[in-house]
Amino acid sequence: MSLASSLTDVLPMEAALRPIGALLDRARGARGCLLTFHRSAPSALWERLPNRNFYLDLAYLDRLLAYLKAQRWSIVTMEEAIERAAADRPGDRFANFSVDDCYRDTFEEIVPLFRAHEAPVTLFVTTGIPDGTMPLWHAGLEDIILSKEHILRDGRTIEVETAQEKRAAYATIERAWEGPRAGALYSAFCAENGFDETRLRDKHAISWDMLQSLARDPLVEIGAHTVDHPRVSALGEAEALAELEACRRRLRERLGREIRHFAFPFGRAADAGERDFALARRAGFSSAATTRKGVMRRRSNVFSLPRNTLNGGAKSLAMAEMHLTGASGVVARMLGRV
Ligand SMILES: [Zn+2]
Repeated sequence: MSLASSLTDVLPMEAALRPIGALLDRARGARGCLLTFHRSAPSALWERLPNRNFYLDLAYLDRLLAYLKAQRWSIVTMEEAIERAAADRPGDRFANFSVDDCYRDTFEEIVPLFRAHEAPVTLFVTTGIPDGTMPLWHAGLEDIILSKEHILRDGRTIEVETAQEKRAAYATIERAWEGPRAGALYSAFCAENGFDETRLRDKHAISWDMLQSLARDPLVEIGAHTVDHPRVSALGEAEALAELEACRRRLRERLGREIRHFAFPFGRAADAGERDFALARRAGFSSAATTRKGVMRRRSNVFSLPRNTLNGGAKSLAMAEMHLTGASGVVARMLGRV
């Protein structure tokens, strides 16, 4: 689909939303929108992925980047977003894209696409991924389901031939495994289905070599996203602080640079609160981002910045425009989904 035709497709909704944003800006000055996602996939693969909402279709991301440029949004690093919000120039509009966790596709697909658009991108790295200390069971489970027509679970055969069956099986097993035993259940599942867990992890994990090469790119900004990806609010204070500090230290040690920005895993209101925002400051960061929806303004607290998650299933520019205007944040607060 060409950019021109895709823009026409969304115009009615988008055209209705844009003036709302412009009106608010006249009253309220500069507007920044932080957007985040995890993984990416080419369109044909995206259609078949068992956990596809976790991935952005690369063609959609390409369209979104072109659209922002056409609408004269500046795409900036977190560092610049914070400066521009503070400067509060009337009519200034800027967006930041961050990739959370960081898998191999960050290196192979996502950063190359941002490079093609000459746009910066922020990578919030979970250091347990390149260090190989996290089992990456979500990615492995998905890979096994994707590559098979039937799988074995606890001695029973489950048909996973169609994309719909694959999605259903993934959702059921993910729900059943979620919790402290996930790693062990996944290991047993790999063995039962004849898959090598280490090879699967290496296929999906980003490596330190990849991160080192990305960190040399002036368009790439590296931020921290903990060591083990815990729900920070659920940890005791010392343990929470250690997750933040150890991640920052490890990234500095491997990439040879100061790490100034942090993003909370999960990032909704129940996942990170006032104590945790203070811990991010104590750990030496200059900002911390959540996944509470909304836009960034001059008065935004830089230790609890709003950030809008791009869901893989929402492939419309109108949905992106909801985030850009701040409308999705207003709706989320009205529905109590914070
Ligand atoms: Zn994450």
